[in-house]
Amino acid sequence: MEYIPAKSIVIKNKNPEYWFGHDYNMNIYKGCSHGCIYCDSRSDCYKIEDFDRVRAKENAIEIIKNELSNKREKGVVGTGAMSDPYNPCEKTELLTRKALEWIDYYGFGVGITTKSDLITRDIDLLKRINQHSPVCITMTVTTYNDELSSIVEANVVPSSKRFEALKKLGDAGVYTGMLLMPILPFINDN
Ligand code: SF4
Repeated sequence: MEYIPAKSIVIKNKNPEYWFGHDYNMNIYKGCSHGCIYCDSRSDCYKIEDFDRVRAKENAIEIIKNELSNKREKGVVGTGAMSDPYNPCEKTELLTRKALEWIDYYGFGVGITTKSDLITRDIDLLKRINQHSPVCITMTVTTYNDELSSIVEANVVPSSKRFEALKKLGDAGVYTGMLLMPILPFINDN
């Protein structure tokens, strides 16, 4: 895994109402290898070189732990805006999982946006957080059609697997929803 330096990770959102109600935003990884053809995070304006190469932030868990312990206000920590927190490397790196452990420990809630069924690995932690704070999981699905999803989102599980993950999360009592976006003209708008 390649690491990059980071000073701060859990950032206050000035307008949580525009950010799915997330009071804070957190990106542990930089870049994303899911390969969605419509991904706007690879736009030049964000200045992320070689976006498909996922890098992790150095000492991420230590930084997150310190930042959570110093926050005056509890709230919901959102993740999944500029990189999927369940990129394939998370299977072995476990950084998202470790961050959830500290989110639970310090009494914060969590909002996760992902396209990966790897999130079901962490159902135990999501249930624990849910006992004291809000948890909201949004799974992005752009089409019910697995063949199409494997073209527009080449390196992530097909839509059917995402529906299965949503069911598992819902059955575990975790508040879940589907993010039906983006709508791509002539591709998934029918
Ligand atoms: S999962 Fe999100 S961040 Fe990753 S490539 Fe797809 S749209 Fe971009």
